[in-house]
Amino acid sequence: MASLAGIGLASLVGPARAASGLPPTTLTPDQALERLMEGNRRFLAGSAPSGPSNLERRIQLATGQAPFAAVLGCADSRAAPEVLFQAGLGEIFVARNAGNLADTGAIGSLEYAVGNLGVPLIMVLGHEHCGAAGAALAMAQQNLALPAHLRDMLLPILPAALTALRAGGDTLDGTVRANVTLNVGRLQTESSVLAAAVQAGRLKVVGAHYDLDTQQVSAIS
Ligand SMILES: [Zn+2]
Repeated sequence: MASLAGIGLASLVGPARAASGLPPTTLTPDQALERLMEGNRRFLAGSAPSGPSNLERRIQLATGQAPFAAVLGCADSRAAPEVLFQAGLGEIFVARNAGNLADTGAIGSLEYAVGNLGVPLIMVLGHEHCGAAGAALAMAQQNLALPAHLRDMLLPILPAALTALRAGGDTLDGTVRANVTLNVGRLQTESSVLAAAVQAGRLKVVGAHYDLDTQQVSAIS
């Protein structure tokens, strides 16, 4: 993101401006979603990665980037979006933290992806057996004591944990799914840049779940 320092505010509120030597993707939000899911199907089928990461592509990427989608994912080592979607270098813009949270760093990163790189799709990707969701659930159930930074980081997941506890059943799975839905909403309520892009039809923000047992990504409605 070497060009970040040169960003003008105008580029963050209007249509995407070329922030690199490559033109933005021409995919619609729905086409970008289909391309991601198609990548997960290739991953499921055990196909060899087919992302364009050859030498020619790497040289081209030295002039800029034009990813077709962005993913807000969990830092969990088992849920790497580039792997799950068989995406090559330069194809997806990824923001990750424990709990796939729409915090300041994630929102700012995604505003750059949408406002300057013209990304038409953001996927918030939660996953099965999420440790961050589990810890938030334990905080809600047992008032679990945690180191300060870890506790503060997990606090935004508490509303999802409480929703899951009220609903009953598999409360960890419920927390993961409610947390994804919460953060899909937060991206749009806390960022006027992202909200304006959604309003203009240039962007879709969707929620999804990665199943560690089946390696399948599925939509969370
Ligand atoms: Zn996780």
